[in-house]
Amino acid sequence: MEPIKNPDVKYTKLFINNEFVDAVNGKTFPTLNPVNEEKIVDIQAADKDDIDVAVAAAKEAFKRGSVWRTMDASARGELIYKLAELVKRDIVYLASLETLDNGKPFMFAMGDMQASINVLKYHAGIADKINGKTIPVDGDNFCYTRREPFGVCGCIIPWNFPAMMFVYKIAPALATGNTIVIKPAEQTPLSALYLAALIKEAGFPPGVVNVVPGFGPTAGAAISSHPEIRKIAFTGSTMVGKKVMEAAAQSNLKKVTLELGGKSPLIIMPDANVDEALAVSHMGVFYNMGQVCIASSRLFVHEDIYDDFVRKSVELAKKKCVGDPFDLKMQAGPQVNEIQMKKILELIESGKQQGARLQCGGSRFGDKGYFVQPTVFSDVKEDMRIYKEEIFGPVQSIIKFKTTEEVIEMANNTTYGLAAGVFTKDINTYQTIVNALEAGFVWVNQYLNSGAQAPFGGYKMSGIGRERGEEGVHEYTQVKTIFVKQPKCAK
Ligand code: NAD
Repeated sequence: MEPIKNPDVKYTKLFINNEFVDAVNGKTFPTLNPVNEEKIVDIQAADKDDIDVAVAAAKEAFKRGSVWRTMDASARGELIYKLAELVKRDIVYLASLETLDNGKPFMFAMGDMQASINVLKYHAGIADKINGKTIPVDGDNFCYTRREPFGVCGCIIPWNFPAMMFVYKIAPALATGNTIVIKPAEQTPLSALYLAALIKEAGFPPGVVNVVPGFGPTAGAAISSHPEIRKIAFTGSTMVGKKVMEAAAQSNLKKVTLELGGKSPLIIMPDANVDEALAVSHMGVFYNMGQVCIASSRLFVHEDIYDDFVRKSVELAKKKCVGDPFDLKMQAGPQVNEIQMKKILELIESGKQQGARLQCGGSRFGDKGYFVQPTVFSDVKEDMRIYKEEIFGPVQSIIKFKTTEEVIEMANNTTYGLAAGVFTKDINTYQTIVNALEAGFVWVNQYLNSGAQAPFGGYKMSGIGRERGEEGVHEYTQVKTIFVKQPKCAK
């Protein structure tokens, strides 16, 4: 599949009530091409006033008796399915737009769009299967529960998987009958705005989905503190997640779900299939230029196979083709922006200073665009910043261990708890390790794979709540319990 190298940008305005509109104050911000640092286009910037307008539209769309509120759940499912079909129709354009705005290799962007289609279809199917319970309570009572929508949901998403994150938020919210005000990341607003146009084309009523690009401290903060928003779903850094939760508490105690950062351990036991473990641990950290919340950013390798594993990991990193993400031969593009590139280079410097052994990479790649060389450190120790902090870049940190108990301790020695992995052929070892790991998602003899049906989310400071699967759907509902008086003979 060939990309469209210069995709036309069709939409640059806020999307409210199924119309593209200017921001109230008319302010704009540029979105940049991370390959050449040039402006792609100016985007209307939402601020507090625009969030108020968008929330009012979403509230109106949720009003009792509205088209959306009275629509059958199966009909909501059909609309979501239609949206999935439209994404499929425009998959090459959407993936090209994502590559332009984010810098990810085109085939990765295609993968994101396919995952988005899968997630939409899953939620299309589940829309009319969200059941309450009948509960056999004591006394002359009939008790049942309903899973009801919250009303207006606020969503704030990051830039690493712009379209996918957009879909991960809107799909369960729509399946459960909520309305939405969603803010894409300021670095990557383009795919979200195009998806907004598809939402209108699919036939969703006005106000059901409102897309408000803008900055975090203005538009984002207005969403998290809005008194009329009943639930907020945030994906991003742990630091901002705390702010969102605080604003939610201070405003109206809206329900909060958070998908945050990680420092995920991947453990290679001495009996592992080394060839598979090598390839998977490489992808685990270098996929999407390391800009993945579940990146296997701490690689624990048993001492018996350590030296060989490090050597081969370095060979893989050195072979990586870095360059123009529209070139299908490239396996890595640039980081999303200058801030991220500089943050990564600063952490690499700290690794060098703190005594980790730099095996390859370690610098910027070229002098135009936000490229970073694939970097491998060995001899990484627990007190180093590269062990503790989320780098969010193409940096592999390899740590040597001796025993199962020791590696469990080290793997859990982090404030995060998003994901983890283990490679071993021994059933007892795998069960011991899997059950001991403090992480919301654990892979065995693989890494990174997931599905629309499987719940995903973090332990500890990696998040609250789950996304995808039935658990993810339930996060967009609140349970109403109904007690009905019934005659004794009905028991
Ligand atoms: P970020 O937290 O800086 O920004 C995320 C979003 O929050 C953006 O839309 C931003 O505009 C907004 N924001 C910023 N300040 C805000 C504020 N004060 N109030 C409300 N919103 C605000 O994160 P980032 O740098 O864009 O993304 C990278 C981070 O996201 C990493 O830590 C990564 O691990 C995490 N992430 C987590 C997951 C997951 O599912 N757990 C997925 C992707 C990314």
